[in-house]
Amino acid sequence: MIVMKFGGTSVANCEAITRTVSIVESKLAQKPVVVVSALSKVTDLLYRIADQAAVRNRMETSDLLDQLRSRHIGLAHDLMADYPSYCHEACAKVNEICDSLSSFVGAVCALGELSERSKAVIISTGEYLSSNIICCTMNARGIKTGYMDARKMIITDEDYLKGEPDMTAIQARVPGIVSAAYEGNDAVITQGFVSATAQGEPTVLGRGGSDYSASLIGAAIDASVIEIWTDVDGVRTADPRKVENTKCLEKISFEEAAEMAHFGAKVLHPLTIEPAVKKNIPIYVLNSMNPGGKGTAILQNSFIEDGVKSVSFKENILVINIFSTKMINTSGFLKKVFEIFSTNKVSVDLISTSEANISVTVDSSQKIDNVISQLSEFADVYVDKDKSQISVIGKNIINLRGLLRQTFAPLADCKIYMISQGASYVNLSFVVDREVMTDAVRQIHKYLFEDESGN
Ligand code: ADP
Ligand code: ASP
Ligand code: MG
Repeated sequence: MIVMKFGGTSVANCEAITRTVSIVESKLAQKPVVVVSALSKVTDLLYRIADQAAVRNRMETSDLLDQLRSRHIGLAHDLMADYPSYCHEACAKVNEICDSLSSFVGAVCALGELSERSKAVIISTGEYLSSNIICCTMNARGIKTGYMDARKMIITDEDYLKGEPDMTAIQARVPGIVSAAYEGNDAVITQGFVSATAQGEPTVLGRGGSDYSASLIGAAIDASVIEIWTDVDGVRTADPRKVENTKCLEKISFEEAAEMAHFGAKVLHPLTIEPAVKKNIPIYVLNSMNPGGKGTAILQNSFIEDGVKSVSFKENILVINIFSTKMINTSGFLKKVFEIFSTNKVSVDLISTSEANISVTVDSSQKIDNVISQLSEFADVYVDKDKSQISVIGKNIINLRGLLRQTFAPLADCKIYMISQGASYVNLSFVVDREVMTDAVRQIHKYLFEDESGN
């Protein structure tokens, strides 16, 4: 079996879904388990609905709910114009899902209070809408497709918006559900991003989490390959939306891919690699708009050459500086500091220390108020805002002569606030002012990957 995950742009509209269904059709011999995201921008729309409901803005929520319904009904009609009974079935599903969402949102508006649990219910609706429409479309096209509810398979803890998967429960459930859904069918389909607690309470895996769903399912069924179908020709030397002349990487290691994703490359959810690597399942990143392309293979380290592979960045990070004289000559200080980050579930990217100071970077999307107040009980704490983190990533980059010179030469006039070369020798990261980041990334990319003619 193989897992094929299609992201938002690969299921954005009639044309994209038609292409996606053909890609699945070409792989039926490998027994695909299809995992789909919500249509492009739908999850953002659902976040807006949740936020407007929380402030009891009924007019705005009902307007947005109408947009959601009409986009999906319109899509079902476009896709299944020649298959009226399938179109009818898809529209009935869309209406059922939208009706139930409307009453749920109505209740949130009435209360004027949005719990994380309620937010998870609202934002996971996009994947239910897309998976139902695509399932009907595949059946209409003669690909007999079984439907599976991800909430019965992807079990997490009670962190509703960023559920932590329970791999034992997932392993126990997924193979049976997939093989039952496959009975009499050519393919099966489920939702990415969506998950639930063991008691069945809805949770989600965090933004961009459909890649993670695909990898969790792939590991649970011992898939031969996990394919991530997206809108670029594989993993590139930098984000092509930010940098010109990026190159597609033919293959990278699990470790390189994990570092790239953790340090900002949006092409993969940061946790995607973990389940796959445990079972040594190759991941391919492929372009649904160019299905004949080779894409990027993410493989075991031994298949990968040494060298710089990419420049990643996180545009908006915070540097938390912790000062305390108690740090000098005392053991246990670091433990105390990092326990505070851990109990508040704030994840730290870079760390550097000096005699009486620890500096760490964290993504600005994280809530750090509790961390700051708890640290302030025994240390002086200063937070630097508007900083960016740039990471140069590649296997054994420590062995590359002149890497530091090449990386920092274009930054001669920039302030560099922190530098960290990971112990794994895969990652060299540093912090700069946010306003210089784009230019810095472009210059470093040019220096590391382009010759004088821009190739
Ligand atoms: P999907 O909806 O298919 O999950 P995403 O938008 O989440 O797609 O991820 C694909 C995007 O990731 C690309 O369009 C590209 O802009 C961005 N990206 C960031 N870094 C990289 C990189 N190193 N290689 C390729 N794409 C990257
Ligand atoms: N639809 C979700 C999001 O936009 C999950 C995903 O696309 O991976 O975050
Ligand atoms: Mg994505």
